[in-house]
Amino acid sequence: MIEQNPIIRLSNFKEVNCGFSEEQAIIEANRCLQCARPLCIEGCPVNIDIPGFIKYIKDKQFKEAISLIKNYNILPAICGRVCPQEVQCEERCILGKRGEPIAIGALERFVADWEKKNKLNICPDCQSPNRIKVAIIGSGPAGLTCAADLAKYGYDITIYEAFHTGGGVLIYGIPEFRLPKTIVKEEIETLQILGVKIQYNTVIGKLYTFGDLRNLGFKAFFISVGAGLPILLNNTGIELIGVLSANEFLTRANLMKAYNFPDYDTPINIGKYVSVIGGGNVAMDSARVALRLGAEKVTIVYRRSEKEMPARKEEIYHGKEEGVEFLFLTDPLEFLGDENGKVKEMRVRKMQLGDLDESGRSKPIPIEGSEYIIKTDMIIVAIGTRANPILTNATPELNLNKLGYIETNERGQTNIKDIFAGGDIVTGSATVISAMGAGRIAANAINEYLLNSNNLIIKE
Ligand code: FAD
Ligand code: SF4
Repeated sequence: MIEQNPIIRLSNFKEVNCGFSEEQAIIEANRCLQCARPLCIEGCPVNIDIPGFIKYIKDKQFKEAISLIKNYNILPAICGRVCPQEVQCEERCILGKRGEPIAIGALERFVADWEKKNKLNICPDCQSPNRIKVAIIGSGPAGLTCAADLAKYGYDITIYEAFHTGGGVLIYGIPEFRLPKTIVKEEIETLQILGVKIQYNTVIGKLYTFGDLRNLGFKAFFISVGAGLPILLNNTGIELIGVLSANEFLTRANLMKAYNFPDYDTPINIGKYVSVIGGGNVAMDSARVALRLGAEKVTIVYRRSEKEMPARKEEIYHGKEEGVEFLFLTDPLEFLGDENGKVKEMRVRKMQLGDLDESGRSKPIPIEGSEYIIKTDMIIVAIGTRANPILTNATPELNLNKLGYIETNERGQTNIKDIFAGGDIVTGSATVISAMGAGRIAANAINEYLLNSNNLIIKE
């Protein structure tokens, strides 16, 4: 896939990957063996008929290809861009055993972009409306998928979203250069064509409780509020000016449009020497945003080695190309400030890897006497997030695990029979497609639950 030149892209927020041309897509589709037992499908959490849509591309039937995908996945332009295909469908592709697997994600993206270019907005078929109301809490990928599937069954769906715009992490977390926001908006429009209503600026647990929603006539609920509460370090100096969570940094850059200053008057005062603590996608996104906002030097500080980094390989590669520096096997101990309370340095120590820990990765062990100071005037903490307790505090009868995530059975049903849940609020931080998979499973379970309920009184 053609990519924007690393030097040029550092001065803009335009997409890094430019996508396949029609010719490239057809050549790639022709490599597919159309396996009798396609392992790629087993690797996809929403089981897209991958050889089916690839065959259509091969035959230049792009409209048929995208229509087929949309029966399984309502957000193909998003998934084609941000899904970790290398550990899902592409990892299972038989061609990967001896060479390069089929670029399934790039092909999915190609047909989704073709649909947009041709302004087709293809919608999956829906059953006739049954006027039974279902509420979805949160408009991230789990909520959007559950909403779409239930709308296809004919339910009357309202999504309640805390923010003023929909998409969850797709909008406020993942930066523009990986996932343009117009794409998220367009995919949400498809949902609205299916009849799904979205009520923004509505925090469930504050504005409405489940009791209120039942009184409004809702017969079932899907909680998909994500896990957006940042985990912070306990280090001395965490309160200094210039130390912030990746959530805050990325939300200000993306949702508040700091990247588009001065068109939007909400800039970020970016540091000269930015340190990003963590090794996942969120850390990589923060580092690459910081560089684009004008930081002179951006360093990822990570306790383990590159091999253990949970970020996608593609993001690490792109980050390196753009000039992100890496301090591996390094643990931040203390943040030091100047007389104005602004961070100016960080005390760190070197680590070495020991035996495997409960996460299956080598455990970082401190090296005695290895402490030193690094110069930094902005520190972005990207060590993970956890469940936000607003909704669950307002619903004390809901069973949670010891980390505050909602407990469900394998079909997404909680201990309260009309309330289902899925996505990051059940699993902890995961992926877009796993959240979508949970949305789909719960939609089927909600449908069955409602079909078996004998007290459905439909309110006009
Ligand atoms: P979310 O996307 O978190 O959406 C939850 C929504 O619920 C939000 O819109 C929130 O405002 C709303 N909400 C919360 N509380 C309430 C309430 N009380 N009432 C109403 N609404 C509420 N995954 C990938 O597969 N590939 C990637 O490249 C990737 N990159 C990432 C980069 C970043 C910076 C981050 C943070 C995550 C990334 N992920 C990636 C992970 C992925 O985005 C998440 O796993 C996924 O978005 C989870 O979906 P969700 O629907 O469960 O929740
Ligand atoms: Fe094509 Fe690979 Fe799937 Fe086989 S496993 S059908 S080659 S994409």
